[in-house]
Amino acid sequence: MDFAAYVRDIEDFPKPGVTFKDITPLLKNPQTLKKACDALYNFTTNLKIDKVVGVDSRGFIFAPMLAARLQAGFVPVRKKGKLPYNTVSEAYELEYGSEILEIHTDAIEKGEKILIHDDVLATGGTASAVCKLVEKLGGEVVQCNFLIELTFLNGAEKLNGYQIESLLQY
Ligand code: IMP
Repeated sequence: MDFAAYVRDIEDFPKPGVTFKDITPLLKNPQTLKKACDALYNFTTNLKIDKVVGVDSRGFIFAPMLAARLQAGFVPVRKKGKLPYNTVSEAYELEYGSEILEIHTDAIEKGEKILIHDDVLATGGTASAVCKLVEKLGGEVVQCNFLIELTFLNGAEKLNGYQIESLLQY
C-alpha cells in the first residue's frame, strides 16, 4: 500500500516556512484508513500492551482504534487545561516558546505496559514529554509508533532508548 500517495504537503501551514503533512486524504479513504490501522497494529506483534496513550489531537484518531484491537485501554494526553480531573504535567520546548502536556493522575497504574501513538514524529519534543508523563505515573513505555516520521528533524535521537516505529519516513 502506497500510503505516501495519500499524504499531502501543505506549504506555510500552520505558519510561514513550515510544510505540514496532511493525513486527511488517507483518513477519508476506507482502504487506506483500514490498512494504516492494520499496519500500526502489526508493529505491536508480540508486545503485551495494557494502555495506548494518544497525543492531542491527531494522535486521538488511531490510538483508540489500536487500543480496541489490542484489548487495551485508551488514555488521552492533552494540552494544558483541557483535562477535567487531577493531572501531572510536563513542559517541553517548541521552536518558538514552550508547551505543557497533561495526563490524568489515575490514567496509568504502576508497571503497566504502554504504547504511545501520535500522527507525526518531528523533533521528538512532544513524544519525549509524553514518555516522561507515562514514567511519572510508573508506566513502562514499550513502543512509540507514528504514521509519519520526519527523519531530517532527528526525533528518533531524542527518543533514544525507546522502540520507535513509523509507517512512512520522509
Ligand atoms: P515534535 O514535538 O516536533 O516531534 O512534533 C510532533 C507534534 O507536532 C505531533 O503532535 C504532530 O501532530 C505535530 N506535527 C508536527 N509536524 C506535523 C506535520 O507536518 N503534520 C501534522 N502534525 C505535525
